[in-house]
Amino acid sequence: MKYLVSGKAKDIFKKSNGDLIFEFTDRVTAFDGKKKAEYIQKGEITCRVAEYWFRILEEEGIPTHYITCETPTRMLVHHLNIIPVEVIWRNFVAGSLIKRYRAGEVVLPYGVEPEEGASIPDGMIEFTTKFEVVDRPVGKEEILSNGWMSEQEIEYITNITRRINNILSSKLKEAGLILADFKVEYGRNPKNEIILADEVGTPDGCRFWDKAEYDKGNIKSLDKDVFRKDSGDLNAVYVELFERMQQRCWI
Ligand code: C5P
Repeated sequence: MKYLVSGKAKDIFKKSNGDLIFEFTDRVTAFDGKKKAEYIQKGEITCRVAEYWFRILEEEGIPTHYITCETPTRMLVHHLNIIPVEVIWRNFVAGSLIKRYRAGEVVLPYGVEPEEGASIPDGMIEFTTKFEVVDRPVGKEEILSNGWMSEQEIEYITNITRRINNILSSKLKEAGLILADFKVEYGRNPKNEIILADEVGTPDGCRFWDKAEYDKGNIKSLDKDVFRKDSGDLNAVYVELFERMQQRCWI
């Protein structure tokens, strides 16, 4: 096993057969790596949550790079040629969307209220760069002109991301959680098929809101926003999310 690279929260190794090992660490970063910390159990929680969703999505016929977990923090995945675009799906207004709206950089879908927590009834998809120092929103034209994806691939990825959203959202609803938004990445396998990569459905890459609190008009985050906003104990929040999933025997 050869060390390849470290991402913000994962260390990546390559096996002699070409498969990759993701070691989920306790590291957490925000604001393009400018804010950093470590939390005990974070690696295990994110790995086990991602494993749960990969299995569910595979059962639903969505191809993913997941093979198995070798330890509670170590995931074996197929090596893919990663598409250099991050894919964001939004069901509610939050995060960079409201900031960019206030700066006049983005138009919200018709009828959507310009405030944090407002619903986006049909959802919306956005793309950002992946391999630049700072993630930058990119439009379809730039994706096409850089040859990052074809028109058909953008359409395929939009449809599959919408399906992922529907599967995760309906499952999370059973646990009293709202999926406000999330990020996914895709890659191509040697047959040039598009496969879900990286991690999915973790509190590092999604916004989860408590539904009962939302119905009372409050946003209670069970995700990395707690770290971004210094609004609570990230460890306690990740453990709460994990336990809510465990209580339903999901994990
Ligand atoms: O910051 P922004 O509102 O654009 O984030 C949208 C969603 O994508 C959030 O759930 C956030 O956690 C996720 N995201 C991510 N990695 C990034 C940027 C955003 O997981 N590099």
